[in-house]
Amino acid sequence: MTDPIRDDLAAIPRYVPGKALPDALKLSSNEVPYGPLPGVAEAVADAVANVHRYPDMGVAALREELSKRLGVDAERIATGTGSVALIGHLLQSVASPGSEVVYSWRSFEAYPIAATVAGLKSVQVPNTADHGHDVDAMIAAVGPATRAVILCSPNNPTGPALTAAEIDRVFDAVPETVLVVLDEAYREFVTDPALPDGVERYGDRPNAVVFRTFSKAWGLAGLRIGYMVARPEVADAVRRCVIPFAVNGPGQAAALAALASEDEMRRRVALVTSERKRIVTAARELVPDVPETQANFFWLPLGERAVEFAAHCEARGILVRPFAGDGVRVTVGLPEENDAILDALRSFVKE
Ligand SMILES: *Cc1c(COP(=O)(O)O)cnc(C)c1O
Repeated sequence: MTDPIRDDLAAIPRYVPGKALPDALKLSSNEVPYGPLPGVAEAVADAVANVHRYPDMGVAALREELSKRLGVDAERIATGTGSVALIGHLLQSVASPGSEVVYSWRSFEAYPIAATVAGLKSVQVPNTADHGHDVDAMIAAVGPATRAVILCSPNNPTGPALTAAEIDRVFDAVPETVLVVLDEAYREFVTDPALPDGVERYGDRPNAVVFRTFSKAWGLAGLRIGYMVARPEVADAVRRCVIPFAVNGPGQAAALAALASEDEMRRRVALVTSERKRIVTAARELVPDVPETQANFFWLPLGERAVEFAAHCEARGILVRPFAGDGVRVTVGLPEENDAILDALRSFVKE
């Protein structure tokens, strides 16, 4: 009997979720440590009364609210079960035999998975020595088969964000038939005022697609809601690929409640970014070349010792995210949590 399963699936690296151990200190998934925003739990509880009904498939109220806040028409917004799912749907909407997607590497581990599942070939361009995107090499990698270039800014798992000049160069260099995808999952944590807001600066370009999520700063990782902004035709193409009723009712209600608590979100993000500054400064005393980060995590370029450091942390009840042979990504947590990771790092470098 011939196996009906696609051969290429076996070659896809599996997505590795940040580990979860009961009672461990979890600094492995870039979550914000303060619990759901005010009003979210109540909104979810109210919405639960209607879970015997299908949710609003058009996600109208949430898209309307996002439309007002972002200053773009609601028809330009598509929603999905996390921006991970939406990125997959976008790639499905542009895939054809032999087509390619260009992205930086190392970057978000969902990209190679989404590309292969959608049927696109991944063209991975190595990061610069300081762990950012090598924009000129990415531009050089764009060819006739390229359908999209993904820019992850700030870059997961290494932290640097792209400057406006760099993103401008990509838009100027590629034809309008190539989508320039800006993955801004960590946009709310960007503190450098010179760095561009993708929707504001590029939203009106015909080939711009900007991804945002409720999973990180907005504290709704468990409810799976992401969105994207693009020109109406691109948003419509993605909506055609999204599974019907993808974003559930409690999720839609929670996202609206979270948006209503934006001030509190900003306050929490400010706590995280001030801690980020403190802990990265301290980490740099112990590990050279910790790159600049604009996200709620930082990168320890430990190379061959990455997995060993993760085990060292786990033995102390702390979970971080190692990438074998490369480095370790650590989420910025509460002050005492950050002190714990610094202690772990101190004892590790002394060994
Ligand atoms: C966390 C993350 C996302 C968003 O994931 P969701 O599916 O929305 O939870 C998207 N892109 C990057 C780079 C991320 O790190």
